[in-house]
Amino acid sequence: MKLPILNSFHLQKKFQISNVQYRGRFAPSPSGPLHFGSLVAALGSFLHAKSQNGLWFVRIEDIDKPREQAGSVDDILNALESFGMVWDQDLQTNNENNYRGCLVQSNRLERYQQIFDDLKQQGLLYSCYCTRKEIKEMGGIYLGHCRNKQHRFDAHAVRIKQQAAQTEFTDLLHGKVNIDEQLMNEDYIVKRSDGLFAYQLVVVIDDIDQAITNVVRGVDIMELTPRQISLFNLFGIAPPSYLHLPLIVNDDGQKLSKQNKASAINCSDPKPELLKALACLGLPVLSQSSLSALSIPDIIDWAIQNWDINKIPTQLNILL
Ligand code: GLU
Ligand code: ZN
Repeated sequence: MKLPILNSFHLQKKFQISNVQYRGRFAPSPSGPLHFGSLVAALGSFLHAKSQNGLWFVRIEDIDKPREQAGSVDDILNALESFGMVWDQDLQTNNENNYRGCLVQSNRLERYQQIFDDLKQQGLLYSCYCTRKEIKEMGGIYLGHCRNKQHRFDAHAVRIKQQAAQTEFTDLLHGKVNIDEQLMNEDYIVKRSDGLFAYQLVVVIDDIDQAITNVVRGVDIMELTPRQISLFNLFGIAPPSYLHLPLIVNDDGQKLSKQNKASAINCSDPKPELLKALACLGLPVLSQSSLSALSIPDIIDWAIQNWDINKIPTQLNILL
């Protein structure tokens, strides 16, 4: 089946042809301060970009307003600064909606709505009345129960008709990755019943609008990557390359996250944590004596020079 090509990304298509420079991003959700796990993800994405003279953007993924914690946008940006990660201003999407040079999702609702309307007009969206409980009873994977029910678009979740689902992709670190076919064929939610756009949709719109060429992020999102690639295909835009970094887990094997109250990193004394994070990414730790002479920017420069993806651990989890 030939996939519809949407018009919404007309300019980006032109841009893609002429733009070959590396454009990476770190996309934190401001649901709390930066913790050690997100420091490792930020550092990996920063070093990978800078080792290739790339641009590196920070995007504030605050689409899920109810989960936002006041003050954490500045906490995160200040932490990145204390750890020597200077982000680039995104001139392509730069406008009055940016904050400290970063694209902010909550300021882009009109853009998301425009794409949503395009998809809807092409008959690719439908309203779903199923409750979470019902889906669980049907086996946990959503099998398109409401696809042909013509429910009204009201205060219910909206799903996309998944066609030509991608089930595998090549990760720069892990090689060929296969994800469960049923999961990838699922008609996933693009707008939630509370009216908020879903991460799945907006992450792809943003990566396209920012002309991101390389995505480096935590392995917890690896499972969703083919789904995102399918959406790129639907829009007729070449997807970026993907590299998924190991997750930092605690003693119970849980991902460090704001939800399990991972403590914020210590920005007043960044050196020890910076070295620990570099070690998690496979960079040999400098000896203590050479360390005392080095400033944070020196250590960062050293790390950019020595960055080597062949040294990144390929295991999925690293115990803190
Ligand atoms: N905002 C997501 C998170 O904090 C990251 C999404 C991405 O890098 O694609 O987990
Ligand atoms: Zn349904």
